[in-house]
Parts: sequence; structure tokens; C-alpha cells
Amino acid sequence: MIVYELICADEHRFEGWFASAEAFERQRDARLVACPMCSSAAVEKLPSARIRRGAQPAPKEGPSTNPMPKQAPAARRSTMTLASFIDHVLQHSEDVGSRFPEEARKIHYDEAPRRGIRGIASPEDAEALAEEGIPVLALPIPAPDEWQ
Ligand SMILES: [Zn+2]
Repeated sequence: MIVYELICADEHRFEGWFASAEAFERQRDARLVACPMCSSAAVEKLPSARIRRGAQPAPKEGPSTNPMPKQAPAARRSTMTLASFIDHVLQHSEDVGSRFPEEARKIHYDEAPRRGIRGIASPEDAEALAEEGIPVLALPIPAPDEWQ
């Protein structure tokens, strides 16, 4: 679509929508383009044609009401690999071995100093801890030989 600023002999300005420049010329020459204010068909176009992609005016491009969530922080987090995460856990937790369920409970119930611990727990132990509201994270690493 092409939008012309049109002006009639009485200098009324209005917009006309046409399929093409040729369509405008044709309609004007057939006196089909008339001023909406005075119905004059003596219409000229002003030199401010705008091309529109659709048949209707484009919706106003206001501030987006649904902005994309910022992805950067999540993307940065995801660069921490599982291996480096496990390293972090290993460096910042105390190895309590098979006493893990017991120690986890003590820490949870403030019977032992709060600290990160790691160790082994049977699936049943881990489930019981979770039911007590004690956060347990299973890591996909083999237990050291001394735990076996
Ligand atoms: Zn007019």
C-alpha cells in the first residue's frame, strides 16, 4: 500500500490509500479520488508518500508490554559446568561420609554448626531427609573408596 497526503483545490488536506502510484493516477484521472470535506475531485498529491506494508496503519510501536525476560544472568549461571559446580561443592563442604544423614539432621535442627556437608546417603535416607525438609542434593559422582 502507498499512502498519499492529498490536497484538494480548496487546500483541504487528507490521506489517500492506494495500491500503487499508478492506482492513484488512474483513480484521480477517473475523478474517483474526492476530498472528504468538499467532495472536490481536483486533487493533487503532496510529496510525502509513505509506503505501508499492510492495508491498515501499523500498530503504534509503544513500549513493549511484554518485554523479554533478561537472559544474561541465567546465561552466565549456565556457564558454570556441572563439573565446576561439583568442584565448588567439594571445596566448600565437609566430608562426613556415611554420617551424612545424621549430620544433615543435626545441622537442620541446630545441633551442629551450620556448614556445607557432603557424604553418602541411601536413597531411603535422602528421601527421609527431604521429607523432613532438609535440602539434599544428589551429585552424580562416585563415592570415594574409603566410604565403601
Ligand atoms: Zn476539499
